[in-house]
Amino acid sequence: MRNIKEETLDPEDWEEARALAHVVVDEAVDHLKQVRERPAWRPMPDDVRAQLRTGLPEAPSSLEQVYGDYRDLVRAYPMGNIHPRFWGWYMGASNFTGALGDFLAAVEGSNLGGGNTGAAQVEQQVVDWLKEIAGFPESASGTLTSGGSMANLVAHTVIRNLAAGFDVRKEGIAALEKPLRFYASDQVHSCHQKAFETLGLGAKTLVEVPSDDRQRIRLDALEFAISEDRAKGFQPACVIGTAGTTNTGAIDDLTALSDLCEREQLWFHVDGCIGGVLRLAPDHAHLVSGIERAGSVAIDPHKWLHAPFEAGAVLIKDRSAHFSTFEMHGDYLQLQERGMLAGEFLADYGLELSRGFRALKIWMSLKEQGAAKFGRLISQDIAFARYMARQIEAHPMLELVAPVDLNIVCFRHVAADEDAAKALNTEIMLRLQERGLAVPSDTTVQGKHGLRCAFNNHRTRHEDIDGFLRDVALVGEEITAERAR
Ligand SMILES: *Cc1c(COP(=O)(O)O)cnc(C)c1O
Repeated sequence: MRNIKEETLDPEDWEEARALAHVVVDEAVDHLKQVRERPAWRPMPDDVRAQLRTGLPEAPSSLEQVYGDYRDLVRAYPMGNIHPRFWGWYMGASNFTGALGDFLAAVEGSNLGGGNTGAAQVEQQVVDWLKEIAGFPESASGTLTSGGSMANLVAHTVIRNLAAGFDVRKEGIAALEKPLRFYASDQVHSCHQKAFETLGLGAKTLVEVPSDDRQRIRLDALEFAISEDRAKGFQPACVIGTAGTTNTGAIDDLTALSDLCEREQLWFHVDGCIGGVLRLAPDHAHLVSGIERAGSVAIDPHKWLHAPFEAGAVLIKDRSAHFSTFEMHGDYLQLQERGMLAGEFLADYGLELSRGFRALKIWMSLKEQGAAKFGRLISQDIAFARYMARQIEAHPMLELVAPVDLNIVCFRHVAADEDAAKALNTEIMLRLQERGLAVPSDTTVQGKHGLRCAFNNHRTRHEDIDGFLRDVALVGEEITAERAR
């Protein structure tokens, strides 16, 4: 009985779809080309928000209509991280070639869980390039993840399983004789705590060691914590070094940490979500020397390689420990010597089975631009941070609140006292964001609140920094005058 009407999601009229796709691409190019002319951010009006809230669409709409809704209601209110004056938190600025990569990956549709495909080859190639960048040997394993949080979680799972010394996958953590301990500075990214919570080890597994006046882990305090913990019956398992902290861009002494881990027989993991690609910049590579000695490293290509979200990566020197932590094949997924399921099965190196073709956007932009270009962009961001720091030091109304070691500047408009400074600088930040002038974020460093600019933006120019500092001073003056009234 062939009486059902056959249907498909393919367009009824391919030529019409092609024409619309050309419009989409043309407008996407204009959107990027004109980014500088738009506000860095703008709030979404309530009526737009209301238009976006509808019930499940039962009836069809034309693609043209759907695209128009996206363009007018969604794209008109973006985060703004592709804007040259966006320096808040820690984003990347994306890039057009990477966006084409995501489009092409979606059109191709391959599932990177595994399989004998060109896409899987490209992912392994990108992982190999990241090994080269981080100074890891070819024999290391690695995988692309959604981001740095997942990359660190994958590494901690492998490290936990190795440290346990028994089959944790089977017995579970209840069989651990001694509680495991992982050490990092008090500047460590919050995703590590989340990882230990998720792994069932508990937040207490992460020991936050005090940092010095440049926000780097204090080695004496670390050694002390390890020996105290051993005496108390805990099992020290790993030291996490941070290559570029999110708060201020501080880089732990990775060589000293690596030496310490060798002495103490501990795993050395580096959170290189920011600085894991610093070796691309020959003038700054020395800042992360020692990273190549780590047992594992997390890298975030959606940060300093500007891959469109999402793209993280983890590299692990003990390939067999990595594989035995995640390898799993149901009856419906048995590997073969030949055919579609021959070769490495990529899902054996992480938590996700179905995986997108994230590698393509990285592969395309690295090939197009060349690795050296990314190195120069890293140096350019660091130069911007230093330039801004000099302007601030020379400015009567502005002051730094943390030393600038990398690409992050923490500073503030001066005020009568700490409370007044926090209120004033928060208000400056909000007005700059609301007026679309720029997007800085804020933070507190050693008790001092201030604004924070993370330079990880290939569209920024010196004029943006000059204009921004003028705006900070003007808005600061305006608020001070309002409050004096
Ligand atoms: C951004 C960041 C993370 C988390 O990475 P996501 O990609 O946001 O999940 C972890 N560690 C450091 C140092 C980071 O800067």
